[in-house]
Formats: sequence, C-alpha cells, structure tokens
Amino acid sequence: MILGILKEQNFNRVSVTPPATKKLEAMGLTAVIEFGAGEKAGYPDQSYAAGNISAISRADLLKEADIVVSIEPISEQEMAQLKKDSLYISLLAPYQDAEVINKVAKYPVNVVSMDMIPRTTLAQSMDILSSMASLAGYKAVLKASDHYNNMFPMMMTAAGTIAPARVMILGAGVAGLQAIATARKLGAIVEVFDTRAAAKEEVKSLGATFVEVEGASDDKGAGGYAVQQSEEYLNRQRALVQEKALKSNIIIATAQVRGRKAPLLVNEDTINNMKPGSVIVDLAASTGGNCAFTEDNKTIIRNGVTIVGNSNLADDISGVASNLFSNNIINFLQIVVKEGSVKLDEGNEIIKSALISKAN
Ligand code: NAD
Repeated sequence: MILGILKEQNFNRVSVTPPATKKLEAMGLTAVIEFGAGEKAGYPDQSYAAGNISAISRADLLKEADIVVSIEPISEQEMAQLKKDSLYISLLAPYQDAEVINKVAKYPVNVVSMDMIPRTTLAQSMDILSSMASLAGYKAVLKASDHYNNMFPMMMTAAGTIAPARVMILGAGVAGLQAIATARKLGAIVEVFDTRAAAKEEVKSLGATFVEVEGASDDKGAGGYAVQQSEEYLNRQRALVQEKALKSNIIIATAQVRGRKAPLLVNEDTINNMKPGSVIVDLAASTGGNCAFTEDNKTIIRNGVTIVGNSNLADDISGVASNLFSNNIINFLQIVVKEGSVKLDEGNEIIKSALISKAN
C-alpha cells in the first residue's frame, strides 16, 4: 500500500517526516512524497530518499496513493482525483463549518479529520490539536518578547534594578498552559483567566495566579472543552480583564469555545488605556480573536500596543511541529493499518469520531 505525503501550499510544515520511516515499513507501507514536501521543515527530498521514500509529482501522488495525508485540506478538484476507496487524512475542522462534510461526501473516498479525535487519554498520542497548541503557546511568548522593548526576568544590575514583566494569559487550555510555563521560566509574573474550574489547579501548579470570575457556566459533558458564557458573565470578565490589563505588559490570548466565535475579552477601551509598548499575541485570531483590534495573520499597532493576530504559530517552528504532527499521524495509522491494508473499524471510538465521510 502506498502512503502519499503532500507538500503544503501555505505552511512550512510537512505531515510525515523521515524519522517515521521504520514505523511505516513495519506497517507494510511504501511512502512517497510530493517533490519538495519537507523542504521548509528542514527535510529535503534526499533525507526521505535515505529511507527509500521517493519524491513524485502532486498529480501522480493523488492518483496513485492508497492513503494521502496533508495538513491543509486539498481542494474539491483534487479530492476528485483521489483513488476510489482510498483514505484521505487532514484537518478539516467540520465543527467550524459543517458544510465541509457534504463537500467531501461527494467523493468515493474515506475521509479522516484528525481534529475530531476525542480528547481522551487513549487518543492523546494522536492529538494533533494538542501538539500544535502546545508549540504555539511556547512560541507566542517568544513572539511577544520579540515585540516587547523590555525584558521578562527581574534583574539587578549596577545601573539599576529591572522589574519583571507582567504577563496575562487568557485561556488555560493546552496553548495557555504552555505559555504560562514558558513565561514563568523566563521570570515573568503571570496572571491567568479561564472559565473551566479544572484549570485553576493546573494554573497554580505552574506558579501563576488564577483570576476567578464567579458564575461561569458548567462545562461538564462538553468533552473537556469550554462552553459559551452568558453576556452578563462576559461583561464582568471583561471588566476584570481590563483592571488587570492596565498593569500588564504582555497578553497572550488563547480563549476559545469549540465551534463558536472566540469570546471578546479585551475591548477597545482596554487597549486604549494599556501602557504603550505592551504586546498582545492573539492565538484565537482565526476564530475572531479575543481582542477588539485583532486582524488574523497581521501585526498591527494601536495606541502603542502591538497586536499580533496568529493562530498558526506552530508553523513558525516547522521542524519540531512537523515531527510531532508526523508522530500523531503514525500513531493513528497504527490503529487503522492492519496486515498491510486499511481497516476502518467503527467499533473503535477514535476511528468512529475521526471518520467524517465513508467511501460508499
Ligand atoms: P481550546 O483551544 O478550545 O480553548 C482554550 C482555553 O480557552 C480553554 O481552556 C477554555 O476553557 C478557555 N476559555 C474559553 N472561554 C473562555 C473565557 N471566556 N475566558 C477565559 N478562558 C476561556 O482548548 P484546548 O486547549 O483545546 O483544551 C480543551 C480542553 O481539552 C482542556 O480541558 C484540555 O485540558 C483538554 N484536553 C484533554 C486532553 C486529553 O485528555 N487527552 C488532550 C488535550 C486537551
């Protein structure tokens, strides 16, 4: 069976990297890559060739592969070129746009959306959302420090004492927790907001302060995700965010509610009153952002505050991000490739959740 690894059109990452070679062989898969697929992640075609993975054209790969993997979804035109009964694996985010399921259902292909894998202990090793969010949380802090004209740690020098940076983190999910850990390691004072009660202990264990807003809606039964809060709650939260933001130097915004627009937590008035030189990195930019002025994939300056809108920061560290992505894909393949062929057993909760369209 042939596994085809596509080159990404807009990303630096690649979905499967050369360290996976031995595991692919053990599963009885022969892998091929699209020419130059790993180039921007530090894996030129030769590094795949060393593991007997050859490079072919995109058109040939779509036609010949039994399993095709890409990070960005391919176009409908390309879906139509896939082999009948093949397996296509990508991140299609049907929770953001359910129409995507109808689109892919037109083709005689099995489609797996890796972002539909349940957030359970068993599925953790295949959880691409978590691996990418974790890297993005780390990178968000470094990005903020790049734009910040002061530094993070407290330092005593002969020329004077430098105060530590004050960092506010909105949302203590996977990205937020990694941002807390990174900011703390750099010596910042960190305050954190989240609506999920479970986040409190995790935040405290990382040495940050959890800012509680009373009366959050219950998230039990939401599969670990947050639920939407009432406007009344959000108003009280925004007021407290403003109070804390005026004393902060950096805000890392990661608050999201799956399948909905991100909650607006930093309003125009807050930004207009923040200290000039402050920096906001908004990882929720692609779903509308947590901050009033956020523009997705843009860095802007308002009232002297730099606002970075970027939901794709893992792509800035494409080597490690590709390797983690690849590990997640291989771990998934290990549950669906049996004796050299694909078996999509829907009795398996992980496969059932991720399989968004069947070939027949
Ligand atoms: P996410 O990206 O959907 O949201 C990020 C954070 O924003 C969440 O912590 C959410 O509670 C928070 N948030 C939402 N509205 C907010 C508001 N108004 N103010 C402040 N914060 C707000 O979340 P995620 O990182 O994908 O994680 C979702 C959950 O899944 C978490 O509980 C996480 O621990 C859990 N998880 C479990 C596993 C596992 O068990 N294998 C793996 C990954 C994640």
